[in-house]
Amino acid sequence: MLTSYLVRCPHPDCRWSGCLLPHEHLEAWRGALPDCSETMFECPRCRRSWQARIVGDDVVPLPLELVESN
Ligand SMILES: [Zn+2]
Repeated sequence: MLTSYLVRCPHPDCRWSGCLLPHEHLEAWRGALPDCSETMFECPRCRRSWQARIVGDDVVPLPLELVESN
């Protein structure tokens, strides 16, 4: 079942917040990690994606990969 989550874009120059559906579930390629529900969100403002971990009804953003340098 798809559920939307209240999230905030972690990119410091954006900080968009709102409800989003998870972009992609990562369990498929991460293997069996029953207590670890990681997913991706894509920001509708800056069009960048980030990973987050879903813990109950909360979304905990994972640290941004340092692929985007200032
Ligand atoms: Zn953003």
